[in-house]
Amino acid sequence: MSPRPRAIRGMHDILPSETPVWGHIEARLRALMEGYGYAEIRMPILEQTDLFKRSIGEVTDIVEKEMYSFQDRNGDGLTLRPEGTAGCVRACIEHGLLDRPQRLWYQGPMFRHERPQKGRYRQFHQFGVEAFGLPGPDIDLELILLSARLWRELGLQGLELQLNSLGRAEERAVYRERLVAYLQAHATDLDADSRRRLHSNPLRVLDSKNPALADILGGAPRLLDHLGGESRAHFDALCAGLDACGVSYRIEPRLVRGLDYYGLTVFEWVTDRLGAQGTVCAGGRYDGLVAQLGGRPTPAVGFALGLERLVALVREQGLEPPPAAPHLYLVAVGGAAQAQAPRIAESLRDRLPGLRLQVHCGGGGFKSQFKKADRSGAAHALILGEDELERGVAGLKPLRAEGEQIQVPLEDLPAWLRERILGR
Ligand code: ATP
Ligand code: MG
Repeated sequence: MSPRPRAIRGMHDILPSETPVWGHIEARLRALMEGYGYAEIRMPILEQTDLFKRSIGEVTDIVEKEMYSFQDRNGDGLTLRPEGTAGCVRACIEHGLLDRPQRLWYQGPMFRHERPQKGRYRQFHQFGVEAFGLPGPDIDLELILLSARLWRELGLQGLELQLNSLGRAEERAVYRERLVAYLQAHATDLDADSRRRLHSNPLRVLDSKNPALADILGGAPRLLDHLGGESRAHFDALCAGLDACGVSYRIEPRLVRGLDYYGLTVFEWVTDRLGAQGTVCAGGRYDGLVAQLGGRPTPAVGFALGLERLVALVREQGLEPPPAAPHLYLVAVGGAAQAQAPRIAESLRDRLPGLRLQVHCGGGGFKSQFKKADRSGAAHALILGEDELERGVAGLKPLRAEGEQIQVPLEDLPAWLRERILGR
């Protein structure tokens, strides 16, 4: 016999026991976005490989070693999207959406061929927000405020905001030379990856996760000290806005982000409660990207949030929503009752929106149906037998609490359920 098929390493099924917490978070996100005036956009999961090379940058972890790229039957080079910003920008340019400011959000699976571990998967899900056409720190502030509101609404604790400015391209160029000089002076202590990037992408070295480099990198010159007046003013205004709104933050001069398109503001929300994979949400300003992908120069800022990590944090803090078990499980025994059950159930659903009613399927006697009713988690069993039908009533029996079975005339059932079960 051939082996049973298995999911691909690093790609996970989200099981029925897990989907309620996902749904809870997704519902919050959607409401939050409506509350701030953001519109949803949905992009394809596949894009031309070139799009990611041009946007994320050739010398980045993602493009160098993490992309799922292949040739399709026409020989086109395609890639399963590793993130959402590139596709979102591509879509906005393609559909001419950038002639005025846009506030957008999206959500969906992303793919990176990384070493799977807790909080790091090959298929994972991001919720992303992008705002186009707004150059000032006010929109940077808004993105941070709305993410802070999300943590509050979910009841989460222990997320720290880390903030930095990458300045403008000219400022980075000057800084880059100083950094290279510094790193060269310490070249013998760098690891292979960092030595290689020293010339191709030295800022990326600051992002190294290798603890052995912590001391060297800690002593490196700081980009924040190389900002020009405008960049400094942008950063200071953002900080002042955060102060005014009571959002605390830590300025983290080595925060550079793993993608090449960022400038000015960059930020991450980090927690120490998830082990090594502690960045839940990360983003920043990328004013150059739209033009780089062939659009008219358009300021832009965004962030992406790792949903697996957010789900893990919600669970770790015991903040899952209570299960939405059925209010009622309809037990119907005997041919006549079984024949009537669907019609009665449908009319209850018509009259009681929001009612969670599970109807027994598959026949069987009282004993076996009650077992299923119990297992469904339903609060009450709604019982139809020959006896009840003859008298025009239904039985109601509490399943989660003490209490006798009672009889309710069928015509009174909607009102009774509305009052006693839906509490309206
Ligand atoms: P990391 O430093 O953890 O690799 P990154 O800088 O590569 O993160 P981004 O590209 O900024 O991450 O993605 C934004 C968010 O998406 C991350 O902060 C994280 O929450 C989530 N994320 C990124 N890669 C993965 C992954 N492989 N598995 C699960 N979540 C991920
Ligand atoms: Mg990464």
